[in-house]
Amino acid sequence: MADSNVRQFQTPRGTRDLLPQDYDVHAHILGHAREQARLAGFGFIEPPTFEHAELFARGVGEGTDIVEKEMYIFDDRGGDRLALRPEGTASVCRAYLQHGMANLSQPVKLAYHLPIFRYERPQAGRFRQHTQFGVEAIGVRDPGLDAEIIDLGWRIAQSLGLRDLKILLNSIGDVEDRRSYVPLLKAHFEPHLERIAPDDRARWDRAPMRLLDSKDDRTRPLQQGAPIITDHLRPESAAYYYAVKSHLEALDIPYEERPTLVRGLDYYTHTVFEIVPADADGSQVTVLAGGRYDGLIEQIGGPPTPGIGFGMGIERMAHHLREQGLVDDPEPAVEVLIASLGEGAEIAASGIAGALRRHGFAATLAFGGRSLKAQLRQANRIGARYAVIAGARDLAEGRVTIRDLASSEQWPVGLDDVVGKLTDLAYTQPQD
Ligand code: ATP
Ligand code: MG
Repeated sequence: MADSNVRQFQTPRGTRDLLPQDYDVHAHILGHAREQARLAGFGFIEPPTFEHAELFARGVGEGTDIVEKEMYIFDDRGGDRLALRPEGTASVCRAYLQHGMANLSQPVKLAYHLPIFRYERPQAGRFRQHTQFGVEAIGVRDPGLDAEIIDLGWRIAQSLGLRDLKILLNSIGDVEDRRSYVPLLKAHFEPHLERIAPDDRARWDRAPMRLLDSKDDRTRPLQQGAPIITDHLRPESAAYYYAVKSHLEALDIPYEERPTLVRGLDYYTHTVFEIVPADADGSQVTVLAGGRYDGLIEQIGGPPTPGIGFGMGIERMAHHLREQGLVDDPEPAVEVLIASLGEGAEIAASGIAGALRRHGFAATLAFGGRSLKAQLRQANRIGARYAVIAGARDLAEGRVTIRDLASSEQWPVGLDDVVGKLTDLAYTQPQD
């Protein structure tokens, strides 16, 4: 009986176990992402799970929600202030500097697949640990590269079979563009400051542009008629944005301009984009988001270096694939069950299972010395296609029985012929 004094442990709030059926979907997504990233010339990087907290404070931005409220931050036993990674870009840029990658041919293209930690309010599609597949292309500022990165995100989604997504695109200019734009934006909201949602009001000073993509019903009506930044870009920033769009058109990539798209991190400049379901209206549905961050590397102590990238939420992508019916039932993991009956038969069954696995069959043993009927029931429950029945009496004569579990047909075969017979059956019979 369970000891009632011992607490039953559960996953911490906002986290979950990735179970085998989920894992298969994640692996499926990652497989497609890796293949598309390879075609675009990316190599993989894996930075440590924790870094100096200061890296994120500087890289992500002191005033952001991520740094202010959401980081898992701790002092280690040596007194270093560390944080679990709340996003991938700052770590990759740190690695770019640390390993002198500026000396390589630019852009340096790095992809990653990493757990991300943020102390967020858990809700559907929003966890405290999630997984991102992301890419960063560092060292080049060119509209063609921006389009290439968006194209990569789009092709990952397409290769997974998703046809119901759209790309939202905007340019948020750079520090200089915003110097003239932000006062206009503030002038628009200022008279209504009272009615703005408190959370949004808190952004008034440090990130006023975020008022534009607030999902709060109090702020939303006030967004009507707000000035949009693309109307106020300097000519060179506007030309850059125009060129990105021209490249996207040349690549045949559909996009929708969304002048209110601003993204949550401080470091973005110019091109920003998201991939969302075409009918999306919530804030937990963005499957992929990214942009250009020309100021970031300088922020973390490097020379001025441009960069662009995106992060794709694997859990959200998995959820979306499921909703779209694009997740196949995984192949039954076990094709052959080895049932055993009588003295010594289990040992022989082990040998048969080993031989089958060496020949590429998924083989599992029926444990527990139960009746043949119970063992065959197990075979059905695990989705086996065949059973090998190893009875002590048959074994003594060097034989076993192979049974097709769907048709109940069976064949006596010599011990040495088990692999051959199953190969014949599995590869010559029509498979429903
Ligand atoms: P959101 O606007 O949804 O909060 P974000 O701007 O914080 O997203 P990024 O930091 O750019 O997102 O992360 C890239 C992607 O990672 C998101 O588009 C989303 O798919 C996924 N993601 C971000 N936060 C979470 C989370 N808490 N749980 C699950 N997936 C997430
Ligand atoms: Mg967020």
